[in-house]
Amino acid sequence: MVKGVVYLVGAGPGDPKLITVKGLECIQKSDVIIYDRLVDKKILSFAGPGTELIYAGKSPGCHTLGQMDINRLLIEKALNGKIITRLKGGDPFLFGRGGEEAESLAEAGVPFEIVPGVTSAIAAAAYAGIPVTHRDYTSTLAMITGNEDPLKGDPSIDWPKISTGAGTLVFLMGMANLPHITKQLIENGRSPQTPAAVVRWGTTPKQRTLIGTLADISEQAVNAGLTNPALIIIGEVVSLREKLNWYENRPLFGRRILVTRAREQASILSAALEAQGAEALEFPTISLAEPRDFAPLDRAINSLSRYKWVIFTSVNGVYSFFRRLRFLHKDPRELYGAILCAIGPKTKEAMEGYGLVVDYVPGEFRAEEIIKVLQDKVKKGDRVLLPRADIARKILPDTLTELGAVVDEVTAYRTVTGEGQGSKVVEMLEEGKINVITFTSSSTVRNFITMLNVPNVNTLLTGVAVACIGPITAGTARDMGVKVDLVAEEYTIEGLVKVILQYFTKQ
Ligand code: SAH
Repeated sequence: MVKGVVYLVGAGPGDPKLITVKGLECIQKSDVIIYDRLVDKKILSFAGPGTELIYAGKSPGCHTLGQMDINRLLIEKALNGKIITRLKGGDPFLFGRGGEEAESLAEAGVPFEIVPGVTSAIAAAAYAGIPVTHRDYTSTLAMITGNEDPLKGDPSIDWPKISTGAGTLVFLMGMANLPHITKQLIENGRSPQTPAAVVRWGTTPKQRTLIGTLADISEQAVNAGLTNPALIIIGEVVSLREKLNWYENRPLFGRRILVTRAREQASILSAALEAQGAEALEFPTISLAEPRDFAPLDRAINSLSRYKWVIFTSVNGVYSFFRRLRFLHKDPRELYGAILCAIGPKTKEAMEGYGLVVDYVPGEFRAEEIIKVLQDKVKKGDRVLLPRADIARKILPDTLTELGAVVDEVTAYRTVTGEGQGSKVVEMLEEGKINVITFTSSSTVRNFITMLNVPNVNTLLTGVAVACIGPITAGTARDMGVKVDLVAEEYTIEGLVKVILQYFTKQ
């Protein structure tokens, strides 16, 4: 039997994008992933389907798998020929017991590789605007475990040397012992006025930073109720945060924003919000489904040469159409001779993805805009194919018909209500944990209300800003009794993010 292999992989400090390229490759090719508590679940979503995911997290006081169990599991799976990723927070060899796991693999003759990770000891500091070294401040750095109770005379830490031996001191796992740590450092000669910081859940939307001095940081941390995972950083470099605090200063930092679009479309909006520092929570109110009956779409695809125009109105319409085209063993050559039109830039991009050159792109879904672009071009009697959603608005076919065209609307996909748990969102709203709700179409509003299933949505929305992508969506919301706080001026995702940004900048 071929032996498998174990990759001891550092998952990075929290921000899922801080995993290394090599770490990601390991995750994608593994049969088994054994992961720790501080590993962000988003990273696990990169695993292939069918990958066995095993939680080995140790939360303080509650051991899920003992270290011996983990070692045994790694060896057993590897000897069964499996490819295994052992995923650890930060870097696997910095206070992660990665060294012990590697030793036990070596002893058992199991092949292994180490994939270092971005350690929280440096990254959480960086996200708090603190460079752990700086030529004007210090050239030495010590990373220290704060796990051992200094009062019990832990022999592994030489307090007199540590206290003044390095310019910057970074303690991990130290929150429970923080009062003892600061006391030891001061007693052993470090100035009580030394700048000090605590960074909790660094590199994540939950990041919180306290700044003080060696003398008062411990009391501050207690008052603020900060516990692990947190870094304690002591040294003159802490003062640089005043200038370098980039992460928490992003305009939407600390704001939790609900994204109600279909899962397939959510990521564009989520990414745009996250780029401004927000935490995007995806709650898909729409799921995409196949048409109940493919016959009309198939008929259209089988006689594409009849159409003078093919107009797509959404990215999903494009994808669904071309999926079906392919299913019918055809390809984009079938569109030869048709004039191609896309409503909106994203739809155009999706069409270009199939190698098509799009002839006309009305920027917005408004009658005037469509007429402006298409009148004089659409001739009386022109046949137009419109592959789109089952519940699409009538404005486009109506406008085209007015211009004299003969329009075939066919359903390329259906939109149905999402499957998420409305009760979770209700709970978060009640607890004031959501700052903004975004609606990107009338269906997102309607389905949101159906999924929440509460007598009066507005009572839940006190203190929450409701942001709509445009006037149609806002109108639907108001018609359904939902207050609207923000409406994008430009009816695009960028426009929506812009109006949210303006709202918080003004505040
Ligand atoms: N191998 C890990 C450290 C494991 S020890 C690494 O390289 O990052 C666990 C400790 O790491 C926590 O108690 C905390 O002190 C620190 N830590 C881990 N993630 C953190 C984060 N996102 N923000 C602040 N500290 C973190």
